[in-house]
Amino acid sequence: MKMLERVEENQTQIVKDYVNRLFESVRMRNPNEWEFLQAVKEVLDSLVPVLVKNPIYIKHAILERMIEPERLITFRVSWVDDKGNVKVNRGYRVQFNSAIGPYKGGLRFHPSVNASIIKFLGFEQTFKNSLTGQPIGGGKGGSDFDPKGKSDLEIMRFCQSFMTELSRHIGPDTDVPAGDIGVGAREIGYLFGQYKKLKNAYEAGVLTGKGIGYGGSLGRKEATGYGLVYFVEEMLKSQGLSFKGSTVVVSGSGNVSIYAMEKAVQFGAKVVSCSDSNGYVYDSNGINLDTVKRIKEIENKRISEYVKDHPGAVYQEGCLGIWAIPCDIALPCATQNEINKEAAEMLVSNGVKAVGEGANMPSTQEAIDTFMDHSVLFAPAKAANAGGVAVSALEMAQNSARLAWTQEEVDLKLQEIMNDIYRKSMKASEEYEVPGNLVVGANIAGFVKVANAMIEQGII
Ligand code: NDP
Repeated sequence: MKMLERVEENQTQIVKDYVNRLFESVRMRNPNEWEFLQAVKEVLDSLVPVLVKNPIYIKHAILERMIEPERLITFRVSWVDDKGNVKVNRGYRVQFNSAIGPYKGGLRFHPSVNASIIKFLGFEQTFKNSLTGQPIGGGKGGSDFDPKGKSDLEIMRFCQSFMTELSRHIGPDTDVPAGDIGVGAREIGYLFGQYKKLKNAYEAGVLTGKGIGYGGSLGRKEATGYGLVYFVEEMLKSQGLSFKGSTVVVSGSGNVSIYAMEKAVQFGAKVVSCSDSNGYVYDSNGINLDTVKRIKEIENKRISEYVKDHPGAVYQEGCLGIWAIPCDIALPCATQNEINKEAAEMLVSNGVKAVGEGANMPSTQEAIDTFMDHSVLFAPAKAANAGGVAVSALEMAQNSARLAWTQEEVDLKLQEIMNDIYRKSMKASEEYEVPGNLVVGANIAGFVKVANAMIEQGII
């Protein structure tokens, strides 16, 4: 072996040892935070090549600092249900990294929410927001409140109580929350109303995903799903493939899922299945989106209702079975770790050609490894679902300038941003000698911008 190669190999091993030691310390300091540890491990491992080439990031302890949130706030949320009972939930906001802009990231209302989930989401958000090219840092928040089965007034009272505390920590130049699981246009409206009342000021840029009539951006609702399909189409194109004529399976039936299905169909695909947390529907004629929108966006009902309108379709209980449906393209758009090794193997054995992550961290590490081992094209969430937050940043820009762009203008900017994220991630994967590995490419491209800003801003 030539001398230079031996030196390089040695350096790589030294960096790998450093990264392993670092992960061990993260594990010790954040015990039982499995989702957070999973997200950190994936990023640390993928950054080895960039650390080998740029030891300055080790010298400045960039990773040590990026892994530790700037601030994690937890708070009590007391509210009264329709029967007059006092209820108590826990609220969270993690302000992870503000090196390149105000903290930015959604709020999730779901009974599973805990510090680990909020921290994994906030950590990933930092890289994703950097990738968009917009001046936004990373944050995330939410509550273990379960909106399912709650009346409109209960939702309003909960949102008002949640915002009463959250309002102390956010602002258009400080931290700008948005929606996520369980937080849609209705919740954002109640949250904004309470913030406005408390501040006695119309600070439109404090939240994104607002209604169009009071400062929201056209195209925001569709942005994550549409952006996902734009990104995946770029990835498919690089291999001479396309959505056109493809069979697609999309998990979930919420915001991301619905608009991913809509754009996939516009691109000439047939979407045959979607789901919710109870089960999935399979419609060999292609999922009827008007029906899904009515059930989910208007009636707030279960996806099982779908078969009442479409007797040819079938409904199955359980979430895993959806991945046994043969498809060319799978778009997981529900929640974290919904594709495990077994699900990935089912997809591979049925000939899946591409997987695009609409949800955050929907594939376990073993599932990702399975896709990579079988040369399945893989679009990681950090890059592929960044369209939502990118258009949120455009909403902030419109609020600052006190103007509104048309749907077409926003959509064009979204397409440019998604193409740019694809190009940046590919370029980084090539530069660091893992061509086409978008997991590594996206992590590195997102990391470098934040890391350089942190160095320039000193040890804070
Ligand atoms: P919604 O609340 O609109 O929809 C979530 C969907 O996923 C629902 O169909 C829900 O079913 C299902 N789901 C939720 N939790 C689980 C679970 N534990 N097991 C199985 N299914 C589940 O959320 P979004 O569409 O906004 O978010 C979906 C994913 O996309 C999340 O991972 C989110 O972090 C991510 N994301 C969202 C963005 C956005 O702009 N909204 C931006 C970037 C990422 P049910 O109705 O039964 O709960």
